[in-house]
Amino acid sequence: MINIAADLGGTRIKLGILKAGELLAATNLEALANESIEVNLARISEAARALMTDHSLTKGQVKGIGLTFPGIVDSQQGRVLSHYVKYRNAHAFDFRAWARQEWNASLALENDARAALLGEWVKGAGKGHKNIVLLTLGTGVGSAVLLEGKLLRGVHFLAGNLGGHMSVNLKGRPCNCGFFGCLETEASTWALPEKAKMHPLFRESSLSKAGNIEFANLFQEAERGDRLSVQLVEECLRAWGVGVVNMVHAYDPELVIIGGGIMKKKASILPYLQNMVDQYAWAPAAGSVKIVSAEQVEYAGLLGMDYMVSQLS
Ligand SMILES: [Zn+2]
Repeated sequence: MINIAADLGGTRIKLGILKAGELLAATNLEALANESIEVNLARISEAARALMTDHSLTKGQVKGIGLTFPGIVDSQQGRVLSHYVKYRNAHAFDFRAWARQEWNASLALENDARAALLGEWVKGAGKGHKNIVLLTLGTGVGSAVLLEGKLLRGVHFLAGNLGGHMSVNLKGRPCNCGFFGCLETEASTWALPEKAKMHPLFRESSLSKAGNIEFANLFQEAERGDRLSVQLVEECLRAWGVGVVNMVHAYDPELVIIGGGIMKKKASILPYLQNMVDQYAWAPAAGSVKIVSAEQVEYAGLLGMDYMVSQLS
């Protein structure tokens, strides 16, 4: 038997076919995030059928479908709870009915960060641990928590997911969630261009000549000694560090896994975060909470959903 898993992001949808916990085949497609969820699911089905044909697999072999969603998810009912701006009408959609009708299969639906954490737990950096916080540093900041070997969900399915919306700055700018000074308002890809442009050093900075302001060129310009870039890198590292310490204080993990596109610069980021945790977190001794990089950079979400589907009765 096989499982089909899809990881629905803001710009890409990753799709995989998995058997016995291993990824047999994978592809990815553009997310038509302004289109309805039905349109996107139809495209996922079409791409899955093509992958299966390539590998001589048939619909009768499909046991389950696992989908991640970039928002708050009721994994017990298989429903999206957040009125997310992407994948229009997803919150009203019956994913289980769709999986039955389209694939004659059972369905698991989970928040994307929780799925990635499960993937890292079963096949990546979290193997052998029971108390893990995962933070993804990217367009936004995602988070999830595994406590005593169980995914934390909470009564409103919010538990562990809001690391990006813990405030780290009382005087911070308004966040798109309505709060202020959130970790992702202080240090994420969506927030970076505005943060740079509003800075008094922007006019004299080499960043003012960059077409796109993103972390890749921010780190590069900082290495070249650009004053604004040096300052912004330091501010972002400190914001992430405060975020990690807050998560450690909230959940008391033994391991913090950091993933996301920004981790291409992990050589600069990981030691900084480890130092902050060693210095500031309430932990028995330096090193008792380890900060590590995600290992399943591409497919943690697919591996996590395959695991969730395998746990369905
Ligand atoms: Zn926020």
